[in-house]
Amino acid sequence: MRIDLHAHSNVSDGTETPGDLIRAAQAAGLDVVALTDHDQTTGWDEARQVAAECGIGFVPGMEITCQDTTGISVHLLCYLQDPEYQPLLDELAESRGSRVVRARRIVDLLAEDFPINWDLVNEHCQPGATVGRPHIADALVSAGVVEDRNEAFAHVLSTRSKYYVSHPSIDPRDAVRLVREAGGVSVFAHPMASSRGRVVPESTFHDMIDAGLHGLEIDHRDNSAEGKVFLRALAAEHDLIVTGASDYHGTGKLNRLGENLTEPEMLERIVATATGSPALL
Ligand code: AMP
Ligand code: FE
Ligand code: FE
Ligand code: ZN
Repeated sequence: MRIDLHAHSNVSDGTETPGDLIRAAQAAGLDVVALTDHDQTTGWDEARQVAAECGIGFVPGMEITCQDTTGISVHLLCYLQDPEYQPLLDELAESRGSRVVRARRIVDLLAEDFPINWDLVNEHCQPGATVGRPHIADALVSAGVVEDRNEAFAHVLSTRSKYYVSHPSIDPRDAVRLVREAGGVSVFAHPMASSRGRVVPESTFHDMIDAGLHGLEIDHRDNSAEGKVFLRALAAEHDLIVTGASDYHGTGKLNRLGENLTEPEMLERIVATATGSPALL
């Protein structure tokens, strides 16, 4: 069984429609794929329908943008939650709104030095999609400032750049609680991705576990080797679900579908724990 539980469509910062993502997953030889767009679930219906047509397993999910009390970014994957649970929807709407304000600020700063503007960014973002730095990167590519998203993230869009602006997001402990209330399963995404910026202190892991965190995404290309050792010990100590996944973004990132996989027993645990939405298996 080839199971990949982390992939993005153009409902957020992936480059393919949810349906095309499912077709790509099938072409990549996957048996099960999860759709985990940032901060919204509007791709679920199309993905589920195409998965049913293709005969591939589908796990509806999402990746919630969070920020801990010290300002460190945390991404929380969740699976099989009730997509209509209002307290979670309220948080997500606020978060997507703050993303727009923040993206406009980044664009205003960049526009002082480069030929880009908000309209150009919108040309690279589907209406209603969760806007993020990748869409600004695409605008910079079309303006000829950088070669690709990766180059943009290495320089002008990096968290260390003078153009970088952060945005307020939900506390990861609250996100974990809301996912639980919505009948979903929460998995801390790429927790030791030190190349992307600061990683949380050990106390944040314990806070999230105390709040009811279900699992850790360990086999992910951005987790450091030492980080994976730490995560495996933590998962064993607290009997957490462990996942592996690609974090595919279509042509927007080098990550390939199926480059990391999740064990079938772990998917079984996710499905057995969740009560908010059905998986298609
Ligand atoms: P944001 O949520 O706006 O802060 O942007 C972060 C998003 O950018 C993440 O979801 C990543 O998928 C994406 N990202 C981070 N680094 C890179 C990179 N080097 N190339 C392409 N996309 C990236
Ligand atoms: Fe992303
Ligand atoms: Fe992420
Ligand atoms: Zn992701």
